[in-house]
Amino acid sequence: MSFFYFFEKILFRILLCAMLISCGKNNGTLVEENELPTTIQLVKAPVFNENSAYKFIESQIQLGPRVLGTNGHMACSHLITDSLKSYGLEVSIQNFEAEVFTGEKFQAKNIIGVYNPQAKKRLLLSAHWDTRPFADQDTENKETPIVGANDGASGVAVLLELAKTIHMAEDKPEIGIDFIFFDAEDFGSPETGEGYCLGSHYWSKNKHKANYQAYFGVLLDMVGDGESHFIKEPISEKYAGKVLDKIWAIAAQLGYEDVFLKKSSGYEIFDDHYYLNTVAQIPTVDIIGFNPVNDNYFPKTWHTHHDDLDHIDKSRLKAVGQTMIQVIYQEGQKEKGI
Ligand SMILES: [Zn+2]
Repeated sequence: MSFFYFFEKILFRILLCAMLISCGKNNGTLVEENELPTTIQLVKAPVFNENSAYKFIESQIQLGPRVLGTNGHMACSHLITDSLKSYGLEVSIQNFEAEVFTGEKFQAKNIIGVYNPQAKKRLLLSAHWDTRPFADQDTENKETPIVGANDGASGVAVLLELAKTIHMAEDKPEIGIDFIFFDAEDFGSPETGEGYCLGSHYWSKNKHKANYQAYFGVLLDMVGDGESHFIKEPISEKYAGKVLDKIWAIAAQLGYEDVFLKKSSGYEIFDDHYYLNTVAQIPTVDIIGFNPVNDNYFPKTWHTHHDDLDHIDKSRLKAVGQTMIQVIYQEGQKEKGI
């Protein structure tokens, strides 16, 4: 993601991976929410294996940076495609030309894995799989690519582990799931914030199936950093508030209320969910790591060379993965869906 900007005063402020748009009401202070307690009847769901998810991060990192136009990028497309096929999903690749802010053009790929293609009720689970070509938030070696353990690999890893978990489960969820791995998310300009989220924008305008619709969507981005928490993000609240509240309620019931905080960030984040909500018109929640200790709200490692395995915390992967597998199985019970 990219930046921040204030609607009213047009103050541009370079942020982390996201474009944060202040609503101008709270100057970025986290807003405590006083919600009525929600009790959800939890259905039986499989256990999410955070150790296996962690290995998916390792295997991506071993390929090198997954930057557009590189061997690591190509190898990672095979890793994702082969993994999805091995879990019995129908896999397709949406090729497109990504013209980045420098004017360069790259062949890019959105990778789509379909579970239960016949089901009419569908969920869209997504993450970006490319990594940033430079470390613009670092103090040194700014021109070289980041490792992207959190920013890129963590979301991909949780999605792959979810697909694997469902594949191995005896009881399968009775819904359709489309796992979409967006490309060309993180080649935005450090100066202007232009050029982020190209893959999700392309897909939103050219869905892989005519008349495709999903009941709702969830985007996972930077979900592995140990110092981050998941905080309610305003674009998600605006377009998919009911879904967001239910995900947070499920997380709390599973014991992850210290990770999924019942607070609003106060800043809108420009991430892949923006186009899913506004162009594809699929209500989509962004589960994204925040670190409010930082001025820019993103993890300290964001767009630096410290975004590596040392800063990945398996307990974060567990919290988001177990919550998401529960969300999937809750939706699999048709009468109890969101
Ligand atoms: Zn990024």
